Amino acid sequence: MSAFHALEALPAPLRRLTERIGALAGRNRLRVALVGGAVRDLLFGTPLAPDAELDVLVEGDGPAFAGLLALDLHGTLRKHAAFLTARVDWISPDGTPQHMDVATARTERYLAAGALPLVSPALLEQDLARRDFTINAMAIRLDPPYAGQLLDPFGGQKDLADRRLRVLHDRSFEDDPTRMFRAARFAARYNLTLDAGTFAQLVRALPALRRVSGTRIRHELALVAEERDPAASLVRLGVWGVFAAIHPALTPDATCLRLAGRMLSSAPPAPWQTAADPCLLVAYALLYGCPPDALPEAARRLGLSAPELRGVRKTLTALAGCTAELAAQLASPAPRLSALYALIASLPPEGLCLLAATAGESARNLMACALERGRSMPLSGGDVLALGVPSGIACGQILRCLCTAWIDGLAGDREALVALARRHAAALAAPAGAAQLRGLHPGRLPCTKKDTV
Ligand code: ATP
Repeated sequence: MSAFHALEALPAPLRRLTERIGALAGRNRLRVALVGGAVRDLLFGTPLAPDAELDVLVEGDGPAFAGLLALDLHGTLRKHAAFLTARVDWISPDGTPQHMDVATARTERYLAAGALPLVSPALLEQDLARRDFTINAMAIRLDPPYAGQLLDPFGGQKDLADRRLRVLHDRSFEDDPTRMFRAARFAARYNLTLDAGTFAQLVRALPALRRVSGTRIRHELALVAEERDPAASLVRLGVWGVFAAIHPALTPDATCLRLAGRMLSSAPPAPWQTAADPCLLVAYALLYGCPPDALPEAARRLGLSAPELRGVRKTLTALAGCTAELAAQLASPAPRLSALYALIASLPPEGLCLLAATAGESARNLMACALERGRSMPLSGGDVLALGVPSGIACGQILRCLCTAWIDGLAGDREALVALARRHAAALAAPAGAAQLRGLHPGRLPCTKKDTV
């Protein structure tokens, strides 16, 4: 598709917006262009959302142009002087909050690999030359009479058509090793193959990852986790040796990565829709199988904090217990789902997802049954208190017993649970009840099949 037609393909609100930007650029005699992901997606034929974020590049003073735009759109302006960029926020006619990044075309110089670059103003074409891949180094002019003209100095449009991902120069990954994560995301998202030279350069630059901080690695992993198919990027990063280069103990199993990625995708299968932190889930998947003595340093390289590391340790230990219980239950002719539920319900969401990702299909089905049953328990602590049981240890024990009966199918409905709760409450109210309670382990409250039916 030509760039002129690409602009035509913009959703109406964005087309009007680009025309407005173009008119303002024309009045101020500035070369202004659309750049970044929007250009790539337009030329790839991916439809843009009507509220998609646009990146605008200005040859001249970007923040000053952003100020004019903010006035024109009745929006607000935030300048980032050190980076020669600004952000404009405004409310669209239909009431949606929108924003746009406006940057000054610039050149960058890296003084050290992995460090932030030094920037100075430059031409639009020079700005494109500092970008990561040919498919991201294209711009569409917005200023009249050139509106719609494509700037594509590195052949990005052809690479998109040939499904090829290519860096612009042979020190690209050394300059910024986080581009390896970007490479995995774009290759996975658009089904691109790394060109041979680009792949060789990536492998050569792997040692440069050692100089990238854990915080930046975590940020990149968070972006991977946000992809529609995170597993496709994670598996690529694993195969390319990126994780092992971050820390040699990070050698995740591809199946585990694929399944963890599935858990992250927009519609994970029930009942695994949990409130797992996507980035933390990726870290858990990477750290699973890591030798205990390497765990602290490997977790630090992934940007995990000390409390998060403690959480990982605790969860990985708990996972070992859960895996053993799962194996025992699978081998049993009459699995007791309540025992399994007691173990997995206390896992953090990330641990639960990881257990599901690493277990075999029958174990996963058993876990799903236990979770669905446990989560559908129709009686609450409040209901038990309403029966006259004093709050505290007695109430907790009765509730656990009821839960066990419910999950194992010993009480079929709410009425059966209420009847059982009443029997326990009466037993505890009897003179011997309190003494009996003192000697009881939570799991040993009288709750047999005979008691419950
Ligand atoms: P996405 O759809 O994932 O948001 P994007 O290309 O819009 O993709 P951004 O991170 O918003 O991603 O970057 C906008 C543009 O800035 C990119 O298209 C690319 O031209 C440039 N860019 C971003 N990060 C880098 C980098 N690390 N090195 C070089 N250029 C970069």
